[in-house]
Amino acid sequence: VKIVSVRAKTCRIETQLYNARGSRTQSAVTLLAAVTDVVRSGRPVIGFSFSGTGFLPPTAQLQDRFSPRILALGDRELDLEPAAFDPAAALAAITKGEKFGGDAERSTAVGTLEVAIWDAVAKIAGLPAYQLIAQKYGRDEIKHKIECYVGGGWYGPKKTTADLHDEVARYLELGYRTVKVKVGGLPVKDDLARLDMVLSQVGDPSRLAVDANSALGPDRRSAYAQALKGYNLRWFEEPAHPNDYQANADFIAEYGNPVATGENQFSLEELRNLVRYGGMRPGKDLLQWDIPHCYGVEMTSRIIAMLADYGWSVDSMFPHGGNQIALNACGAFGFGACEAYPDAFGAFSGYADNLKVQEGFISLGDWEGFGFEAQSELFAEMKALVPEYYS
Ligand code: MG
Repeated sequence: VKIVSVRAKTCRIETQLYNARGSRTQSAVTLLAAVTDVVRSGRPVIGFSFSGTGFLPPTAQLQDRFSPRILALGDRELDLEPAAFDPAAALAAITKGEKFGGDAERSTAVGTLEVAIWDAVAKIAGLPAYQLIAQKYGRDEIKHKIECYVGGGWYGPKKTTADLHDEVARYLELGYRTVKVKVGGLPVKDDLARLDMVLSQVGDPSRLAVDANSALGPDRRSAYAQALKGYNLRWFEEPAHPNDYQANADFIAEYGNPVATGENQFSLEELRNLVRYGGMRPGKDLLQWDIPHCYGVEMTSRIIAMLADYGWSVDSMFPHGGNQIALNACGAFGFGACEAYPDAFGAFSGYADNLKVQEGFISLGDWEGFGFEAQSELFAEMKALVPEYYS
């Protein structure tokens, strides 16, 4: 069983989002289809994937470099028959000949292709991706019910505090209990007024997290540490530049309460530097790498093993990316929580249509592969990538 064609394209996302670093209105993702030589009900089994939100789309790398490499393989070199499928061999094949370092240039392309391969293999096996992943890594317990928090509270040129109030009220109505809002885009005192209001809505500081998106320089970082340390929030996200491990450690020392980061680490080695040198405390702080941005599922299993050596449990790992990829990984690996951004990235965020958040938790569904087919807006985009199979 092998892949016979791969198609990738860039999809622009219309947004009006602003975080502390400014406009996110130029968002885009790579959408990918990997067509196999297995035919079911008159149509080939196709593994789908997308590159996740929050990073530049790696369409060119996929088209020029990684897709040709996988298409050149015969099924003796990489067999996608479920019992034979070897995820380590798949990753080795995709990354063959790549030099070390500069991971961000390739890690999302590799992870996007790797996720599509998992999607295809799981569909051939007739299994949900979380089941196949758990089987391949010897994890016999699936975590069916997963905490799901909502990421919102973006800035906007015309957004008022009243708008933020309405936004949070809607999240609570949708069933979310923990809300994350942006900070660092206004003077500290104005951000505090926003937080005080949201706090009065969610009712408890353990239900409020904040995200500075790496935008704070040294002075502002210290001002936020001082201003917020008495709030006892659930966590403070990305207080420093992702590669400034000392700044992260300094913030933690001054702030004291839980800190979350890692969505802009793109390899096992970068995450290892974060836990070695970033002041991160197992059992207290949270790690949030994005699975396709970090080489995919196989690398995620290696990252979990590496982090265990540093005392980290999966309870403290909250994968970035509120989508079916992260959700299936949470089920398979038992991660602590997943995120959702109902307002942010259109078809490229959110979960299967029939999943509802209840009291801050979401439950896995019964789907094949990652279940993209169960998310109608997203799947419409995926079908449009390979229209010849869906006419
Ligand atoms: Mg974030």
